[in-house]
Amino acid sequence: MADEIEIECPSCGGELRREIDTEGTTYQCWDHTCMESFSPEEILWTEKGIQPDREILPPIHDIKPRPRLVILESPFAGNVAMNVEYARLCVAHSLTMGEAPIASHLLYTQAGILDDTIPEQRKLGIDAGLAWKAVAEGSVVYTDLGITSGMKYGMEQAEEAGLPIDQRKLF
Ligand SMILES: [Zn+2]
Repeated sequence: MADEIEIECPSCGGELRREIDTEGTTYQCWDHTCMESFSPEEILWTEKGIQPDREILPPIHDIKPRPRLVILESPFAGNVAMNVEYARLCVAHSLTMGEAPIASHLLYTQAGILDDTIPEQRKLGIDAGLAWKAVAEGSVVYTDLGITSGMKYGMEQAEEAGLPIDQRKLF
């Protein structure tokens, strides 16, 4: 099975075809004077502007994957102003870790959305945030200010969903 793809041969600039068989995927140059074949890794490096080198190839983990989808837990109730400041730091930290965090306690508690001091609204927000467990790849829990009952609930839900839980401290 061979597909034409829109990637140029790294050696000659000719047309590559993707070939898939029991050995896996290779990219075959269709130019008769070239006829080189490449691994998917070599093609990825070429896409990143790195010339493939048969001798020294960069490791596959150097290729940045898409951000990891995570549910972020940190305190909210209590000293709300301080906890919001802390949550902002946590989101910034998570982003620098190559993650795409959802911090529902920062989002849904903004003015005009939900009131965290009303139990029904608080539950609505927490459950909406935790609904992301259906697509999340992990739970990240920031513990400098302790673990609140809301965070504990989130961790239990994550555990039930089979998500890895990563406890962290910023300070
Ligand atoms: Zn070629």
